[in-house]
Parts: sequence; C-alpha cells; structure tokens
Amino acid sequence: KKEGKGAYRFFEPTMDAAARERHRLVLDLRAAIGTEQLELHYQPQFDVDSNRACGFEALLRWTHPEHGPIPPVQFIPLAEETGLILPLGEWVLREACREAASWALPLGIAVNLSIAQLGQADLCEVVRTVLEETGLKPERLELEVTESLFLKGSARSQEVLRDLKALGVRISMDDFGTGYSSLVTLQAFPFDKIKIDRSFVSQIGVTSKGGAIVRAIISLGESLDIPVIAEGIETEEQLSFLRQHRCAAIQGYLRGKPRPIAEYRRLIAPIENLRVA
Ligand code: C2E
Ligand code: MG
Ligand code: MG
Ligand code: MG
Repeated sequence: KKEGKGAYRFFEPTMDAAARERHRLVLDLRAAIGTEQLELHYQPQFDVDSNRACGFEALLRWTHPEHGPIPPVQFIPLAEETGLILPLGEWVLREACREAASWALPLGIAVNLSIAQLGQADLCEVVRTVLEETGLKPERLELEVTESLFLKGSARSQEVLRDLKALGVRISMDDFGTGYSSLVTLQAFPFDKIKIDRSFVSQIGVTSKGGAIVRAIISLGESLDIPVIAEGIETEEQLSFLRQHRCAAIQGYLRGKPRPIAEYRRLIAPIENLRVA
C-alpha cells in the first residue's frame, strides 16, 4: 500500500507535465497560424507513361521557435482534437490554391482534409470562396480524405463530399488499404482517385504478397475506372514494377521529397517540365 501510494505520487507530476506540454503546444500552434512558422511543402506527382510532373501534394510543416520542426503526425492530431484544424485547414487550403493558381502549367494540387473539416457546416462555402478568391479552376483541386471519415458521421460526410464534387473539385481516397473497410468505402462513394498506401509499395520486391496486393489495387482501379497513384516510391525497382503493371502515377522520395515550391520551379514552368521528360 505504501509503495502504491509512493508510485502514485511519483507519476502524478509527470502526467501533469505531459498534459501541460500538450496544452502549451496547442497554444503555440494557435499562435503560429498566419506566421512564418507554418509553411507548405510540395511533393511532386509524376505521370508514369510520360514521366512528367502532373501535380503536387501540399504538406503542412511547422517549425516551432524552440523545439524546431514538429512532424504533422504529432501536431495534426492535436489540431483535430482541439478544433484548431478548422482555421489551420482553411489556411492550408487558401495557401495551396493561391500558390497553384500562380503556376504557368495547370497541374493538379492535392490538399489533405481531416475528418473534423468534413463536419464543418460551411466547408463547401469555404472551398467555393477560396476557389473564387484565388481564381483556381475547381478541377485542379483534389481533396484527399481517408476512410476513417466514413466510419464516423458517415452519411453527413458523404453529403459534404458530394457537394464538393458538385463544385467541380475532385476527391481522392488517401492511404488506400490501410483501414478496416477500404472496399466498403470505395463502394459508398464515387472517388476520383485512389492512392495506394506507402506500406504496400514498400513491400514490392520484398515479399511476394507486397507486389500482389499492389497489382490487385491497380486492377481494382482499372475495373472501376478510377485512376491509381502509388505513394512512397523510393526505389527504381518499385517504379519499374508499377510501370509494368500500368499504375497511372507515382509520388515518392525517388522522384522528389516534399520541399518548398521554390525548389520545384522547373517542374511548373512549361518548357522545363517538357525537358524533364
Ligand atoms: P499523407 O497525406 O498520406 O502524406 C504522405 C506522407 O508520406 C507525407 O508525410 C510525405 O512526406 C510522406 N512521403 C512521401 N513520399 C515518401 C517516401 O518515398 N518515403 C517516405 N518514407 N515517406 C514519404 P508527412 O508530410 O509527414 O505527412 C504525414 C501525414 O500528415 C499526411 O499523410 C497527412 O495525413 C497529414 N498531413 C500533412 N499535412 C496535412 C494538412 O495540411 N492537413 C491535414 N489534415 N493533414 C495533413
Ligand atoms: Mg495525402
Ligand atoms: Mg497517404
Ligand atoms: Mg496519411
């Protein structure tokens, strides 16, 4: 009993510290919106046949003034839990659309949407306004969602996604195959693109199962007439496998990491893009 009490006293201040740290981080993140601490990096996507850049995914980066870079897997969940994802997500959307609208080539721009944003009553209005303000053509915008959206508040989420599609925006299924009900989700909603999750791509050539699953997803997309893009391509071997099995597009460190757009100027200028091919 004595020991138990001691252990309790020992752990309590530690937990308080962790909770305080979290709270501090949330406050810092709120304050970071609209400052240079937050920026978007852009990762290029390539058409497998032509080898040309066909679009970019915008990925949020936070450089904390004291802690340095904090990865999205750490701060996005915090933002989701606290509702901060709404102003944050709107900033990402506006920034990505503004950037893409300035490109000489009309490449696609993919933006990740979180579940909380789909629950936002005026999401469709926000997207419409951002498109209007930035002048980006709706068909150039791709919103990436994961199937977790369909588990919680499914009916409402699908309604919002349909409204977004009616604006002319395209909807991609991100991290395909990693959830509990990928096929059900695919059946429930008319996605415009399927993104094969990196965890399958990384198994190409490593296990026979890995390649088989990637092949099956590509042919699933073919049967449903939905283009498939593979995420997380890191090796030439993976790329030639995907080319051989007629995957439409790729995204991965092999061809480009998420970087500030300034480093990809050559891909969005018409002549240089042709030269890369
Ligand atoms: P995601 O949407 O599936 O994004 C792809 C992630 O894979 C990115 O991680 C990207 O940097 C990483 N990646 C791309 N190619 C490779 C590769 O070849 N090898 C490896 N090892 N990794 C690769 P990142 O930027 O850390 O983002 C992680 C997740 O955080 C994203 O997964 C997305 O779910 C979320 N996220 C990022 N930015 C935003 C945002 O603006 N809004 C929302 N709601 N979520 C975001
Ligand atoms: Mg994504
Ligand atoms: Mg993904
Ligand atoms: Mg993801």
